Amino acid sequence: MKIVSSKELLILAKKRNRAICAFNVNNMELIQAITSAADETKTGVILQASAGAVKYAGITYIRKLVEAAAESISVPVALHLDHGDSFEACKMAVDGGFTSVMIDGSHLPFEDNIKLTKKVVDYAHKKGVSVEGELGQIAGVEDEVSAEHSHYTDPAMAREFVEKTGVDSLAVSIGTAHGAFKYKSAPKFAFDVLEQIQKEIPNTPLVLHGASSVVPEAVATINKFGGKIENAMGVSEETLAKSIPLGVRKINIDSDLRLVFTATLREYFAKNPAQFDPRGYLKEAREQVKQLVIKKLKVFSV
Ligand SMILES: [Zn+2]
Repeated sequence: MKIVSSKELLILAKKRNRAICAFNVNNMELIQAITSAADETKTGVILQASAGAVKYAGITYIRKLVEAAAESISVPVALHLDHGDSFEACKMAVDGGFTSVMIDGSHLPFEDNIKLTKKVVDYAHKKGVSVEGELGQIAGVEDEVSAEHSHYTDPAMAREFVEKTGVDSLAVSIGTAHGAFKYKSAPKFAFDVLEQIQKEIPNTPLVLHGASSVVPEAVATINKFGGKIENAMGVSEETLAKSIPLGVRKINIDSDLRLVFTATLREYFAKNPAQFDPRGYLKEAREQVKQLVIKKLKVFSV
């Protein structure tokens, strides 16, 4: 299948009252794991790369790997820039073949965020690329993006933001956070805020960032086989799924894939000390990530 814009997938998700999962990628094995899981569950998926991922793998590698994966499956995929931090970063992604970009101006004053986001929308839409904006700040650390506290998205401002920028989707802050060490205790989500946002902008797909569950089994395996991950805590999938009837159409998952990949490698090395062929352990990690992605897709998308 060809690579489509995120907008196409989000419209499909709305029709079915489900959400599209967006998984972060930076290497071949992750891309293969995610796309084969999507193919097997017959659901579209968004592959997204952050500035850090682009720096790590190179934009051409990412695009060509995703193109190769898309060619071998029968469900649509979108290639999305996660947390673009400037017009230039978004332009580079648009020109580099991404079908969707996020411009994160959430740290800027409201009017400046509107101005920057509108500039990206004007450029991207001319090329058929969809744009995700962000309003309100999401706490935690994700590659180069970090904020100490979250600030809930203001529903009335969300409406003004969408009207003035023309974004295709909006990332909102309702209490989710980036990374694996985001909460000291079980988090509370502002579903009431989400409900108000949906009332203000019923036609705009909403995006939930920081939606990893921080898979407890993976954390336990990492720690059992020599790792040291303390106080990691995420959000249960059941809780996250409650956001879908309230207009959330894109759910971002990154940390869980990293944890399962790492857990698989640690266990493999501990149990197979004489193995040194990357194909052996990467194949195993790829398979475990695939199983995780199938599970996520069944909860949120299928
Ligand atoms: Zn994010």
